[in-house]
Amino acid sequence: MTRVLICGASIAGNALAYWLRRAGCEVTVVERAPALREGGYAIDIRGVALEVAARMGIADEARRRGTDTLATDFVDRDGRRIATLPLGFGVLDPADIEIMKGDLTGMLHAAVPDGVEWIFGDTVAALRADARGVEVTLERGGARRFDFVVGADGISSRIRALAFGPPERYVHHLGSSAAIFTAPNELGVERRQVIHSAPGRVVSVKTDRGSHEVKVTLLYGGPMPPRDHDARLRSVEEAFAGAGWVVPRLLEHMRAAPDLYVAPNAQVRMDRWTSGRIALVGDAGYCPSALTGQGTGLALVGAYLLARNITECPDLSAYDRELRDFVDRNQRAALGPAKGFAPKSERAVRLQALGIRMLPYMPWRRLLIAAVTREARRAAGALALPPTAFS
Ligand SMILES: Cc1cc2nc3c(=O)[nH]c(=O)nc-3n(C[C@H](O)[C@H](O)[C@H](O)COP(=O)(O)OP(=O)(O)OC[C@H]3O[C@@H](n4cnc5c(N)ncnc54)[C@H](O)[C@@H]3O)c2cc1C
Repeated sequence: MTRVLICGASIAGNALAYWLRRAGCEVTVVERAPALREGGYAIDIRGVALEVAARMGIADEARRRGTDTLATDFVDRDGRRIATLPLGFGVLDPADIEIMKGDLTGMLHAAVPDGVEWIFGDTVAALRADARGVEVTLERGGARRFDFVVGADGISSRIRALAFGPPERYVHHLGSSAAIFTAPNELGVERRQVIHSAPGRVVSVKTDRGSHEVKVTLLYGGPMPPRDHDARLRSVEEAFAGAGWVVPRLLEHMRAAPDLYVAPNAQVRMDRWTSGRIALVGDAGYCPSALTGQGTGLALVGAYLLARNITECPDLSAYDRELRDFVDRNQRAALGPAKGFAPKSERAVRLQALGIRMLPYMPWRRLLIAAVTREARRAAGALALPPTAFS
C-alpha cells in the first residue's frame, strides 16, 4: 500500500487525505496546530473547484452552510449608504459558494474516509529522500518512512523550505496586507457585507449565517507586516489612522480580538511543485494571494490532481504540467486587484463612489460587471478535470 505523509490539515491537506484514502493509500496527516483550525474568514468555491466539491459529494452541504450574504452595501465615511450590489463582494457568479474557512475545513475533514492517521501538535523537522521513499523526522514523533511526502502547510510551508529552498526565493509580496478578526455585531448587520473605501485602504464587515458577530477585514497598502504582534497591531492602527465610519471602534475590537490574523497579500511562485517523491499542494506551492479569492479553488483542484498523480501515474511530474496553466492564469488574475485594491486619493474615492452609485441605474450594468469579473471567472474555470479511477 502506498504510504503518504501530508503536512498540514487545512483545505489542501484534508482534500488530499480524502482522495488518497479513497484511492486506498495509507495516509498520515501531521498538523502543527493542536486541533483542526476553526473560524477564519469567508472563502470561495467557484469554477473547476465546484466540480471537485461535487465529486467529493460536499457541494450541496457547502452551499447550505454558505455565508448566505444577500447583498453588499458600500458606505461613505459618515456611514451613509452609497449603493448596494447583490450577493457577497467575492461572489463572481451566483453559482459560486461562499463559506467560512473553518466550516469548509470541518466539512472536508468529516468527509475523509476512516483509517487516516491524524497527528496534531507536531511537525516535520527533517526530510531525507532517496529513490524509493522519504525518511521523515517529526519534531515529537521521531523518525518515520513514507513513499511520498506532501507539503499542504500554507504560504510559510516548512516542507517547501526543507525540500525546495527558503521563502525569499518563492514568496512575493504584492504590496498590501489584510488584518482579519471577529468583532461584536454592533452595526446590526444582517446577511450583508458592508464595505467602506478610503485612500489606500478598504474596510469590510461581514456577517456569517445567523451570526451575532461580524468578520472584519482591514485591507491596507505597505510593506510586509512586522513579525512582532504589538508591532503588527501598531502598523494596522497607523494604516487606518484618521479613517472615518466606525473604523476607530473596529480598531478597538481588533486589539481585544482573540483571533486577529494579519496576513500579507503575497503569491508563491515556483517553476515546479514536485521534487522526486516530495510535492506541494495549495498555498504552499502556488498561493495566488487572498486578492484573487482563488486560493481555496487552487487547493481543491491541486489536491485532486496530485492524488491522481500519486496513485495512477508513474511519477509526480505530470502534476507540474497539468496544473501549470491553471495556476499561472489565476495568479495573473490577482495582479490587477493587487494594484487597484483601494482608491489612491480622496478624489479617486469620490469617483469610485459615484461609479458605484450610478451602477444600479445603468441599463448595461450586468454587462459591465461581467466584463470586470470576466478574467477572474475564466481563470477559475480554465482546467478540464481528468477522470480518475477513484472519483
Ligand atoms: C486574509 C485572507 C483572505 C482570504 N480570502 C479568500 C477568499 O475570499 N477566497 C478564497 O478562495 N481564498 C481566500 N484566501 C485564501 C485561502 O484561505 C487559502 O488559499 C486556502 O486556505 C489554502 O489552503 P491551504 O490548505 O493550502 O493552506 P492553509 O489554509 O494556510 O493551511 C495550512 C495548514 O498547515 C498548517 N501548518 C502550517 N505550518 C505547518 C507546519 N510546519 N507543520 C504542520 N502543519 C503546518 C496550518 O496550521 C494550516 O492548518 C484568503 C487567505 C487569507 C490569508
